[in-house]
Amino acid sequence: MPRFSRRSFVAASAALLARPALAAPAPSAAEVDAVIIGAGAAGIAAARRIAAAGRRYVMIEAGDRIGGRCITDTRTFGVPFDRGAHWIHFPASNPVTRLAPRGGLEIYPAPQSQKVRIGLRNAREGELEDFLSAQVRTTRAIADAARKGDTPCAQALPNDLGDWRPTVEFVLGPFFCGKDLAQVSAADFAHAPERRGDAFCRQGFGALLASLGTGLTVQLGMPARAIDLSSGIAVETPKGTIAAHTAIVTVSTNVIASGRIRFTPELPRRFADACNSLSLGSYDHIALELTGNPLGLESDDLVFEKSSNRQTGAILGNVSGTSLCLVEVAGTAGRELAAQGEAAMADFAANWLAKLYGAEVKKAVSRASVTRWNADPRFLGAMSAAAPGAQAARRVLLDPIHDAVWYAGEAAHERLWGTVGGAWESGERAAAAVLRRLSGVREPVPEEKHPPRKRERSHRRGR
Ligand SMILES: Cc1cc2nc3c(=O)[nH]c(=O)nc-3n(C[C@H](O)[C@H](O)[C@H](O)COP(=O)(O)OP(=O)(O)OC[C@H]3O[C@@H](n4cnc5c(N)ncnc54)[C@H](O)[C@@H]3O)c2cc1C
Repeated sequence: MPRFSRRSFVAASAALLARPALAAPAPSAAEVDAVIIGAGAAGIAAARRIAAAGRRYVMIEAGDRIGGRCITDTRTFGVPFDRGAHWIHFPASNPVTRLAPRGGLEIYPAPQSQKVRIGLRNAREGELEDFLSAQVRTTRAIADAARKGDTPCAQALPNDLGDWRPTVEFVLGPFFCGKDLAQVSAADFAHAPERRGDAFCRQGFGALLASLGTGLTVQLGMPARAIDLSSGIAVETPKGTIAAHTAIVTVSTNVIASGRIRFTPELPRRFADACNSLSLGSYDHIALELTGNPLGLESDDLVFEKSSNRQTGAILGNVSGTSLCLVEVAGTAGRELAAQGEAAMADFAANWLAKLYGAEVKKAVSRASVTRWNADPRFLGAMSAAAPGAQAARRVLLDPIHDAVWYAGEAAHERLWGTVGGAWESGERAAAAVLRRLSGVREPVPEEKHPPRKRERSHRRGR
């Protein structure tokens, strides 16, 4: 990823194709129309909308680059490594792909199938069918349960999953939501449409997102410390105070709940409660560079283990045709592993792959790099999933705070939560509300754009 100067305003730019920034005014006592806090997918989308309307805005970002939980690292391995989001869900309707520049970025369909490893062999066709059928039945059972009440997903699990149960629990829980199914609302799960027909960007999803920030002004290394709404909006940063008529806050629900940004007056109770019940799950990549394709996988093969316990993961092999292999760890087990640190994570991945493909695999690991999203104070987790009974909390996040501050981000999307596309749409929606507010127009919040919802899902492929 490109490194942006902490000191100057820059144009947010494509990861590798950065153009020089247009100069932008430093935050000052003069009021801007909107201050946007956070330059992830939601912040970028909001800034684009507000800039297009000709309004004055300032976007501030605590980190040293744009993209938030969707960033591509090209330095570690010399090939793109998406440290956060990698699967482009619903590419046909995803605004990020629709807006992608035509040159320089290749978006291609992800393989449709998934593989399963049973001990040291691949699952046979009949076994694979059993697994997929177990996934479909479980998804259907959760949807049925959600129609009766917002119970934990785990309570809805069919009794006849047999020895596929731990695998299904991993795929639909930690792999899909970042949380174990006992911690996830059945209604929230059922609101999310089936994710099929995903795509990848060969240069990285983060590079794609960053390209959409080209031309925007953003001040990096500039965390909001406090937001005072007592008289207009005053956002306190280490480099001064920004005065604005409106604000769009896009930091994660866990960052809000941590109290890292002080609000005066305090956030409304129901908003704070909503952030707590939409806490982020745990999801990390352990990236291994493997010499000589020791797993014998095709480009972008997705592999699960027929597991008997929670100490399992998923493999995304030969990412975009490179020798990079991602071991995905998530949920409670992933959280506990990540808490042990980088060396423990890399060890787990190498030992786990050796268990599934033979001890020789360990010798093929030439380099490793891990993500630890829970430990990063700018995020404190991976993606939101509603606690049982709390699906309605997503709607609470849509309400403006004191008619001046709007929240945007993946957590504020009722269907596309946990995705970049959802964060983007949420940012656009918040910007539209801000523009109406600035024009003195009061309109209803527009409906979310989303792919058609399906009552029953077949197996999911990407996370
Ligand atoms: C490991 C992982 C894998 C994922 N996989 C996928 C996937 O395959 N497909 C998919 O669609 N989605 C995936 N997601 C989810 C996706 O990345 C997020 O839903 C999306 O990027 C969230 O965007 P956002 O704008 O809501 O929030 P963020 O990306 O969190 O943006 C918020 C921004 O605010 C900044 N910030 C924080 N505190 C402050 C402060 N005090 N002041 C100023 N700025 C601040 C942060 O640095 C950040 O840049 C994944 C996430 C993770 C972590």
